[in-house]
Amino acid sequence: MKHRFKIKFTVQKTKKVALIGECMLELHGTAFGAMQQSYGGDTFNTAVYLSRCGGDALSVCYATALGDDPLSAELLRRWALDGLELDLVRRIPGRLPGLYQIEVDAHGERRFSFWRDQSAARAYFDAEQTPLEQRAAQWDAFYFSGISLAILPAAGRERLFALAQALRERGACVVFDNNYRPRLWSDPAVARENFLRAFQVASMALVTADDHQALFGLASVEDAVLAAQQLAVPEMVIKRGAAPTLVRAGRGPWEQVATEAVPRVVDTTAAGDSFAAGYLRRRLLGATPVEAAAFGNRLAARVIQHPGALIPVAAMADLMATT
Ligand code: ADP
Repeated sequence: MKHRFKIKFTVQKTKKVALIGECMLELHGTAFGAMQQSYGGDTFNTAVYLSRCGGDALSVCYATALGDDPLSAELLRRWALDGLELDLVRRIPGRLPGLYQIEVDAHGERRFSFWRDQSAARAYFDAEQTPLEQRAAQWDAFYFSGISLAILPAAGRERLFALAQALRERGACVVFDNNYRPRLWSDPAVARENFLRAFQVASMALVTADDHQALFGLASVEDAVLAAQQLAVPEMVIKRGAAPTLVRAGRGPWEQVATEAVPRVVDTTAAGDSFAAGYLRRRLLGATPVEAAAFGNRLAARVIQHPGALIPVAAMADLMATT
């Protein structure tokens, strides 16, 4: 009698995610006092949290530009240690990374100063073809935010939208996070026009109700939620701080997902960025929108209980993938 053995291998396919934006140098301290150096930026924070939670199942590629200076070289070295793949990073001779300073006053209020008008990241698309576009066929998901749009010149935005459209047409997941920073836009009307284009091209939108309210000049957060619910994005998440998160996929109903109870909020920096990473991680690996939002809420709740955008790895080890 002939025995046939069936050997079943479970091969978990690595999904490739590309994120585009700017990571700036951070100086933390007072004028002419000692200053602590660090780095961060919205899509960059999401990339790092995605890499931490993704394990071997996700490959996280960050697209931005840096200069050829020593600070740029050191940033790149650190980003590799953060688990990011860096072959989409362009080095532009003569340009520098953006910079911001955070100063905390006697009342605990944070004051930000920025030097980013000429930063290298703004020139990402100032080339006939970028590595991001050259490898367009590879991406399972592409993530950009309102800040990615704000820092690019109009021609760069066109290239970003064209890439997003091509990815969407071939069925990739195109994710837009509506981070709105009014001071990065010369005119709110231009911001509105670009955000509406982003909502059109996205297959998934992560919407902070406060930002939607500010961008469209709406009277209340409730109005902002109603307006966001009218957008025709196939999959949407609406975040409202500690209030339950709203999610909807396809023609399904809106569902509410409770946030986690946080006894003491220490610093809300990167709350939305980490939520995005948690949500996307779970969605790309097959969870339902409700399950994914619950995980996003867990991760964000952890992040806001620690100072800074990127919390220590040890503080979230239980939320990180082991594969
Ligand atoms: P953003 O950082 O984009 O402005 P939100 O303030 O809406 O966004 O917060 C993003 C996520 O962080 C929320 O969806 C929630 O998961 C979590 N979060 C924010 N504030 C709180 C809070 N006070 N308690 C629990 N979770 C919170």
